[in-house]
Amino acid sequence: DSVFAHVVRAPEDPILGVTVAYNKDPSPVKLNLGVGAYRTEEGKPLVLNVVRKAEQQLVNDVSRVKEYLPIVGLAEFNKLSAKLILGADSPAIQENRVTTVQCLSGTGSLRVGGEFLARHYHERTIYIPLPTWGNHTKVFTLAGLSVKTYRYYDPASRGLNFQGLLEDLGSAPSGAIVLLHACAHNPTGVDPTLEQWEQIRQLIRSKALLPFFDSAYQGFASGSLDADAQPVRLFAADGGECLIAQSYAKNMGLYGERVGALSIVCKTADVASRVESQLKLVIRPMYSNPPIHGASIVATILRDRDLYNEWTIELKAMADRIISMRQQLFDALRARGTPGDWSHIIKQIGMFTFTGLNAEQVAFMTKEYHIYMTFDGRISMAGLSSRTVPHLTDAIHAAVT
Ligand code: PMP
Repeated sequence: DSVFAHVVRAPEDPILGVTVAYNKDPSPVKLNLGVGAYRTEEGKPLVLNVVRKAEQQLVNDVSRVKEYLPIVGLAEFNKLSAKLILGADSPAIQENRVTTVQCLSGTGSLRVGGEFLARHYHERTIYIPLPTWGNHTKVFTLAGLSVKTYRYYDPASRGLNFQGLLEDLGSAPSGAIVLLHACAHNPTGVDPTLEQWEQIRQLIRSKALLPFFDSAYQGFASGSLDADAQPVRLFAADGGECLIAQSYAKNMGLYGERVGALSIVCKTADVASRVESQLKLVIRPMYSNPPIHGASIVATILRDRDLYNEWTIELKAMADRIISMRQQLFDALRARGTPGDWSHIIKQIGMFTFTGLNAEQVAFMTKEYHIYMTFDGRISMAGLSSRTVPHLTDAIHAAVT
């Protein structure tokens, strides 16, 4: 008998499991709106042209070798990543107060940041928004932090519960860590306005809470890298400390390359350098050092003015297609006379729409229309196209009537 005979089957991941179910469905009209990966109007995954170009350059450069990167990853990639999120003229960067380490995409950056905090920060509680990306609770719990939630989404208005957010952060213990989605909140698509961000900043600083930004969608929300970085830059500008986890999965389409960065903005250069020495002790026993290819692609694009400009154009095109899908779905539901106020579809931003459909309606749409999405009613707008909008509209109409 197997020594593992007692092992019970674990449930599928709630998000990735949607794709598993989709793959098993033989229906020709099936539609996967579960996982947050960009698709073209033809429903195909997209490799950016600028990424192809950068890869070509890397292949042609025969001086390139496959040696290990340092524990902290590719130095140039780290510098350019900090600049991308904090801005080219960031005083924190100029004063060498930022330490950046290359990590395994956004997830790995969150995990390394979480493990560092669990070892070296005085307050072990992290507040995450309710709801949030399903992996946050698991990442931070396993990192050794204690996870609590703050109110974020208001189902009645399908918008931000700003009062609830202020109350919950206001009653958090001094020093607590606060996880903030830098832009394009997942799963709700609801972001604070800049004025609200400023109020959040004041509250966080007045209570000495520690902000930890999850930046998985820079450029994907508005189509502008700078506009989407505004909340993070607002916090960095006050001279206070914060953590930032960046992912290049969505904005460069580098999902499977697992390329991201963790930056910790510190008060002084001396603190930053000691923090970095401890980050190395977190990383070394976890995976020794990060992979080289994805970071080389990113550095090649970020360092070259022409490639960078080309990237911003391709990024804007992805963001614009998603925004156009919102409009098309909204218009189709209106034209169809589907009961309910669907204006949240065009008000929310980023990759997802939090439709307001409940688990029963989702199950109905999957069973009767072969449309796959998470049970919280979140749909990935990037998985939709002009061709599939009518089918989704039919399904939503049938689900709510
Ligand atoms: N944070 C949020 C909010 C996300 O939506 C995602 C991707 N779904 C991530 C982090 C991390 O993704 P990755 O590890 O692929 O960069």
